[in-house]
Amino acid sequence: MMTIQDFKMFIDGEWVESSSNKKIETLNPENNEVWATVPEANEEDVNKAVIAAQKAFETTWGNLHPTKRAKYLRAIADELRKNAEHLGKIETIDTGKLYRETRTQANYIAEYYDYFAGLADKVEGTVVPIDKPDMQVTTVRIPIGVVAAIIPWNSQMLLTAVKLAPALAMGNTVVIKASELAPVTLLEFAKLIQNAGIPKGVVNVITGLGEPCGRALTTHNLVERIAFTGGPETAKHIIKNSAENLSQVSLELGGKSPVVVFDDADQENALNGITAGIFGASGQSCIAGSRLYLHAKIYNEFLDKLIEKAKRIKLGGPMNEETQMGPLNSFKQLKNIEKNIEATVAQGGKIRCGGKRSDISDKGYYFPATIIECDNHNLPAAENELFGPILSVMKFNDEAEVIDKMNDNKYGLSSGVYTSNFARGHRMSKAIRAGIVFINTYRLISPMAPFGGIKDSGYGKEAGIESIKDYTRIKTIWSNTSDKPMSDPFTMG
Ligand code: NAD
Repeated sequence: MMTIQDFKMFIDGEWVESSSNKKIETLNPENNEVWATVPEANEEDVNKAVIAAQKAFETTWGNLHPTKRAKYLRAIADELRKNAEHLGKIETIDTGKLYRETRTQANYIAEYYDYFAGLADKVEGTVVPIDKPDMQVTTVRIPIGVVAAIIPWNSQMLLTAVKLAPALAMGNTVVIKASELAPVTLLEFAKLIQNAGIPKGVVNVITGLGEPCGRALTTHNLVERIAFTGGPETAKHIIKNSAENLSQVSLELGGKSPVVVFDDADQENALNGITAGIFGASGQSCIAGSRLYLHAKIYNEFLDKLIEKAKRIKLGGPMNEETQMGPLNSFKQLKNIEKNIEATVAQGGKIRCGGKRSDISDKGYYFPATIIECDNHNLPAAENELFGPILSVMKFNDEAEVIDKMNDNKYGLSSGVYTSNFARGHRMSKAIRAGIVFINTYRLISPMAPFGGIKDSGYGKEAGIESIKDYTRIKTIWSNTSDKPMSDPFTMG
């Protein structure tokens, strides 16, 4: 029997319990046993964290020269590289994602801190070509203040980095709320923040439930900016909450990303890309390529190859180096997947492989790679985000038809096009209504490449050079350059 580990929150540079002393138990998705407890933050704890962040903003971080802030960001990057294995291990226990992936990702996330460190002292102001003689008007970019970063359970290190790194680089201070479904990784990350010597209060990590903790944070009157990643229903609460403190909001939400394979595509490349896109991380990825459109000419042949590949995927414990797909994160997800598959089959969907929970464990929720043929893409499994290893496959005949079908979904996060026709690849990239288009590849991220969706997938882009400006405000400075006194406003003529 594993001993249950107890963790504390990080507020104002101190490791603290919640003021109520209440705890949240967290499960290891490999076996659904409680492996850790974390504090359950309430309004009082949120208030302490936000006040600490505001104080740090006013007294240290907000006034620090950007070059100095950049040095701190590089120290975080160094800490991440040194501790990638440990963090990866914790994230795997926390989320059920493969250790092979979490440790590689923790290492790569360091690049985000280095990238934004590089940008920190390169954001410049402007001189406005003003239409008034004797006036000089300049603009400067200033930090916003306290940022609330709300993080979902998956890809926490990445989804924190794309918010925290630009926010800190520009002089903001941050309160991070970890997901109640996987709260420990970010508490361990807070230790690296401490090791990097970041002044107290600049970064605070709290753990709690959406209600009351998330709500208290996103309505707090000292919070000026909310950076949210999560599901669309939670996003609607966030927007309502922001009406209470009038804070700026960015939303990175879910997806039901379409992928098309034309008859001229390199099939081996497409098979690998599709497999990575939907079965990587057991499909628990916001950019999962979960709707597949196959050209009629290659439909049967390609689908057979894909099914054969999917059946070979090895399900197993996430720490095992041989495992290719780990467990689902929660019972709620399992139930949602089962409900959607059942409804799809009832409406004519044909399961070609997978389709029900694996019996490799009666504790963890292991779900095999599943492929469902659908006559139309309005069937539930083809239309709803399932956040699992479920691929819906549809047939198409021509380019215009598939463009209409790909765009016929409320989400618009990612998409994929497989073709050897360069011109067609470009045409498709213009026609698809999504924030990201992958051509002959899939599931790539970089600190340099903007990430985010359109339609119900949210608004605001994370990563990339522009995203740093989302953590600033423009201040306009008017200077009178005349030696003469201003004219009396009440003297006419
Ligand atoms: P979720 O929306 O349930 O929770 C996200 C966070 O919001 C959690 O920290 C939660 O505690 C908090 N929250 C819940 N209610 C709140 C409230 N009323 N006020 C403030 N905060 C509140 O999402 P999840 O289940 O953790 O993650 C899965 C979802 O996230 C999927 O829909 C997925 O597509 C999406 N996602 C999107 C991206 C992206 O970048 N576009 C990346 C990863 C995940």
